[in-house]
Amino acid sequence: MKNLKIAIQKSGRLNEKSVQLLKNCGLDFENYKSSLITTVNNFNLEILFLRDDDIPGYVAQGIADLGIVGENVIDESQEKVTYLQRLGFGRCTLKIGIPKDSDIQELKDLQGKAIATTYPNILQEFLAEHNLSAEIRQISGSVEIAPGLGLSDAICDIVSTGGTLKSNGLKPFADVRRSEAILIGREGLAENPILCELLQRVQSVLRAKE
Ligand code: ATP
Ligand code: ZN
Repeated sequence: MKNLKIAIQKSGRLNEKSVQLLKNCGLDFENYKSSLITTVNNFNLEILFLRDDDIPGYVAQGIADLGIVGENVIDESQEKVTYLQRLGFGRCTLKIGIPKDSDIQELKDLQGKAIATTYPNILQEFLAEHNLSAEIRQISGSVEIAPGLGLSDAICDIVSTGGTLKSNGLKPFADVRRSEAILIGREGLAENPILCELLQRVQSVLRAKE
């Protein structure tokens, strides 16, 4: 039977737990060192090590059959993939943050303001849901410094402890979306026996954790 391919993050916040989950499923393989693809020794699976941002696209295009990635990244990518299993790790919240001394008090005060983010699509959807329009300033990182530089009135970024907000003179203002890691699959994969076996193992690992 043809091997399935699963894409996981090469390095970063989801790598270790993704690898651990697959190992707990009894899969024997080497974690990413320099080879971007590795074959599992005792299961019909190959593992691709990628940047998380590329995972939804690879799965949507069928280059990978499966992927483990944060919901925030899936949503932002707007790629069409199937949710197979919520994994319970990589939990975080995408929030709007504002300067400590900001005059923004309610959501409607965001109307017409400039908001810096690396998540323009999710932010746009959130604003539309609240009948707001704001100027979305897309930047590729270090979003928290934008208000201090006069680049924006607010930011929208992933916040866990709030420490980065605080050290940049910001405070959390509104939750945009919660996120956790998800096992995704390409469309039309549902009946595959390798997937069925893998899903059963994943689910029993998750149940054992409860
Ligand atoms: P890559 O190099 O793969 O593009 P990255 O720098 O974009 O990595 P990481 O910071 O490793 O991404 O985060 C990966 C994912 O982990 C996030 O997209 C999110 O789903 C999740 N996550 C959980 N907690 C946090 C947090 N405190 N900050 C950022 N991401 C978090
Ligand atoms: Zn990324």
